[in-house]
Amino acid sequence: MTGQGDGPPVVGIDLGGTKILSAVVAGDQRILGRAKRTTPAKEGGPAILQAMIACIDEALEQAGLTRPDVAAAGIGSPGPLDVQAGVILFSANLNVKDFPIGPELAAVLNRPVLVQNDVRVGGYAEFRLGAGRGYRDLIAAFVGTGIGGCVIQGGQIVTGSTGNAGELGHIIVKAGGPRCGCGARGCMEALASKTAIARRITKAVRKGLPTVLGEKIARKGGRLKSGDLAEAVAAKDLVALKEVQRSAHFLGLGLGGLINVLGPEIVLIGGGVAGALGDAYLDLVRTAARSQTLTDPDGRIRIDRAALGDDAGILGAALLAREKFVPS
Ligand SMILES: [Zn+2]
Repeated sequence: MTGQGDGPPVVGIDLGGTKILSAVVAGDQRILGRAKRTTPAKEGGPAILQAMIACIDEALEQAGLTRPDVAAAGIGSPGPLDVQAGVILFSANLNVKDFPIGPELAAVLNRPVLVQNDVRVGGYAEFRLGAGRGYRDLIAAFVGTGIGGCVIQGGQIVTGSTGNAGELGHIIVKAGGPRCGCGARGCMEALASKTAIARRITKAVRKGLPTVLGEKIARKGGRLKSGDLAEAVAAKDLVALKEVQRSAHFLGLGLGGLINVLGPEIVLIGGGVAGALGDAYLDLVRTAARSQTLTDPDGRIRIDRAALGDDAGILGAALLAREKFVPS
């Protein structure tokens, strides 16, 4: 179990639209047990809570612990949220509205529960435990099906007056651009996410442009795996290359603007797309961002890859819960 001075174990949960990840995390941030469940998103709040509890119990069992052994729990959840009350105000992906996931889980565990935005939680883990360690001011952007982000200033997550700030995927980088899931046009997410890349490649296929991704994307109903995209880029597929460049360009534009406003020490790029495409993608993002960062003429602000992958959510949720509820 935990060593002396490490503090009691805490549960971290990453609640996503397709899967729930849970972990029991020791005071020294080691993961003692972990589990995964499919999110019963179609069935709504109570079913999601039950799946979450089963997922926590499985992680506890793997760790050789029981519910009373943990001091607190943290949930990283899609939003918008009422962070103070622990309520998911609305989530289309989870099919819930005004769902008090924090108090409900707290009643079951008989322990305090923190609820914070899933991406903010992941960014906080990178800041404290991952590629952002040692910095005080950073921006993290996660590029996957959507684009989420986290701004940390002076060691604190910036959530603004509403508690929900930090949505850097919805910065508009192309006036009148493609429609975004949020309803606006030309958001970074609508131009640079994996969904945006897949949509553009589907269009290219319809136009008859040759690409190794044509058949794969048709078979998956217009969806695309980051790994398939990376393979196509490695094979120098011209359609894939062009769309990856376009994604990196618009991501860089958005991040360049943020760098000018916030002046972070480091910008971290994570998520499935960035992970699969690696340094070549990062270089394109750097070039686009630096083309407009007038506040950083010497190029001192680092733009690097995030380090924690899929563990960022569970680790960050556990860490925030520990910092809030467990006396050090
Ligand atoms: Zn948007």
